[in-house]
Amino acid sequence: MDKHEHAVYLTFDDGPIPESTPFILETLKQFNVKATFFMVGENVLRHHDLYNRIVEDGHQIGNHTFNHIGAFKHWTLTYAINSEKANELIHSHLFRPPHGWMRPSVYWWMQRRYKIIMWDLVTRDYSKWMTAQGVLNNVKRYARNGSIITFHDSLKSIDKLRFALPAALTWLKEEGYEFRTFE
Ligand SMILES: [Zn+2]
Repeated sequence: MDKHEHAVYLTFDDGPIPESTPFILETLKQFNVKATFFMVGENVLRHHDLYNRIVEDGHQIGNHTFNHIGAFKHWTLTYAINSEKANELIHSHLFRPPHGWMRPSVYWWMQRRYKIIMWDLVTRDYSKWMTAQGVLNNVKRYARNGSIITFHDSLKSIDKLRFALPAALTWLKEEGYEFRTFE
């Protein structure tokens, strides 16, 4: 985003799920920080109470397809229909493609309907080769003005986030960063 703003944009992909969303919400509340949750439609369907909590806590929400489909394997129409089905539950003008990729024809279609939000800082919190300390180190090493930082609201990442999320928020606040959400 704007490199002249000393601000970062926190994003959490793939939720909501009971194993990790409550921890993330409590941590964000403790630090008085707002973030953006790119949610998967089928998780919202299963855990609508968590979707409601995310909205009630004042966070921004975004569409991440109905069942985390990749744009590699799907035609534009299938992809668009899948995302519309998700948006009947999510109600957002923001979209982030799973795996961070769309073929140009899909992009062209989706950007007419949504504001597409990518990122510059992937914490790799989903990787089994990554430690909690490694996730924190990625934030410290790569955060800069206007960074969009991606964490995951998922089973693969929660064990790392229990340490890395509060530690990263502490560090970002010490560095004077503000926390923004998207328009
Ligand atoms: Zn994802």
